[in-house]
Order: sequence, then structure tokens, then C-alpha cells
Amino acid sequence: MNDCIFCKIVKGKIPTKFEWNDDKLVAFNDIKPIAPVHILIVPKKHVESLGKAKNEDVELLGKIQRIASKLAKKKGIGNAFRLLTLSGKGAGQTVFHLHYHLIGGWKDKVPEIEANKQI
Ligand code: AMP
Ligand code: ZN
Repeated sequence: MNDCIFCKIVKGKIPTKFEWNDDKLVAFNDIKPIAPVHILIVPKKHVESLGKAKNEDVELLGKIQRIASKLAKKKGIGNAFRLLTLSGKGAGQTVFHLHYHLIGGWKDKVPEIEANKQI
């Protein structure tokens, strides 16, 4: 996708320091972190969102979770991290290239997640 910002990052058109880079995935720091550690894990393949992923993407989706766990350990948050994806505009997705937010590193109070607040 020519006008996709994450495709540009994947292709090296926007200089970005990668925390991970292999044949299927890249990971890099979020430009607007919401936690002390906030890394985006992004497949090199342009898939719009989790809701648009297909059966053929299952291996890729599994790999994202493995790399998330490895990156969490590398960043010193292996025992306490969150991995989340927003699927669709109505869920707050703003970049329409599949990505997972790996967040953690809180020192004191762990922020509630929205779902908890609604209980
Ligand atoms: P989402 O709302 O789940 O689509 O998340 C998109 C995320 O991408 C946001 O947290 C943004 O801060 C982040 N983001 C957008 N552009 C960049 C960029 N050039 N480099 C790093 N993070 C970015
Ligand atoms: Zn893309």
C-alpha cells in the first residue's frame, strides 16, 4: 500500500530504529507512548486489521505473539506486559495496517483497562 505509513516504515522509507526485524515482522517504539515501554509489532505484509486477517495469516498472528514475548523479556518486562490490537475504526484503530501494541513497565499503579471500568 503506497500511502500506508507502516508499509513505508517496513520498506525503510521512513528512518526508524527497529527493536525487531526479520523476514515477517518489524517492531519499533510507538511515537506517542502510553506506557514506559510501548512497542508496535507490525507484520511486513499489509493486512488492514485483525478483523480482516485470513486463515493464511494464522502463522503470522502466532508469530506476533511469540515475538511479543521475546521483546518483553528483552525490555525487562517479561513478567508483566500487555499485548493489544485495535481492529476497526469503531474500536479506535487509526493506522490501518495490522499492529499490536506491546506495553508495560509501570512502576507503581498499573492502569485499568477500559473493559475493567465498565464492570
Ligand atoms: P492504533 O490506534 O491502534 O491504530 O495505533 C496506531 C499507533 O501508531 C499509535 O499509537 C501512534 O502513536 C502510532 N504511530 C503512528 N505513526 C507512527 C510512527 N511514524 N512511528 C511510530 N508510531 C507511530
Ligand atoms: Zn501497510
